Amino acid sequence: MSESRRPGVLHECSFPQIRDKTWPVALLPFGATEPHNTHLPYGTDTILGSEVAARVAAACIARGTKVVALPAVPFGVNTTQLDLPLTINVMPSTQLAIVRDVIGSLEPHGVRALVLLNAHGGNELRALVRELQPSTPIMLAIVNWWQAADHAQFTEPGDHAGELETAAMLHVAPHLVEADRTTWGDGRSYPSTLEGVRTGVAWMPRRWTQATHDTGVGNPRAASAESGATFMARAVERIAAFCCELALADTQRLWAPRD
Ligand SMILES: [Zn+2]
Repeated sequence: MSESRRPGVLHECSFPQIRDKTWPVALLPFGATEPHNTHLPYGTDTILGSEVAARVAAACIARGTKVVALPAVPFGVNTTQLDLPLTINVMPSTQLAIVRDVIGSLEPHGVRALVLLNAHGGNELRALVRELQPSTPIMLAIVNWWQAADHAQFTEPGDHAGELETAAMLHVAPHLVEADRTTWGDGRSYPSTLEGVRTGVAWMPRRWTQATHDTGVGNPRAASAESGATFMARAVERIAAFCCELALADTQRLWAPRD
């Protein structure tokens, strides 16, 4: 964490840093509290979502666009991991209530767009946006930060506590990553017993204690802080560009022929 107050990071800002300015775009990171293989902390998704949001806000402010990073929601949807100790679940319906209340708090203050910056695969936020968008003038958008840049640099990006997430944590919070790599689980996972799920005809949420060996999905061993830094920088750049677009977008005309 930075040792000085970062502009646009709401929970680090004082009242004078926020008042008298208009903040057209707000970022709401969504994390989770759950095991991440044997080498990453429970708060991995919250830490990464918060950091990406802070960097996106900084990048936008440097370009002259006021983007504010809200505090992260530290709990995610973990309904199929409740048998893993101290995994904290919030229901999608609870997330809906949280986002509705955040929107209600932002509406009177000139916020034009709210970006749900997701860092946890179990948080499926589209249904929330579909339900809430008709009742607010604030444009709602979703970014899954780990999908915002090309994965080509990773040998096996992984799905949960794999190479991508581990690399990002080695870059952002190396003190929270288990130092002895020989203790890291290999992140092996197991397929569904149902052919229809294996072939993609149907989807069912994975029962984590059956689908994984060490709670991770994807081998983290090839992760490096350098690849984490490169990937995060690219993701931040692309998300920041989108936020700057949103700040200027015509809210009444978001789809039109391109000619
Ligand atoms: Zn994660």
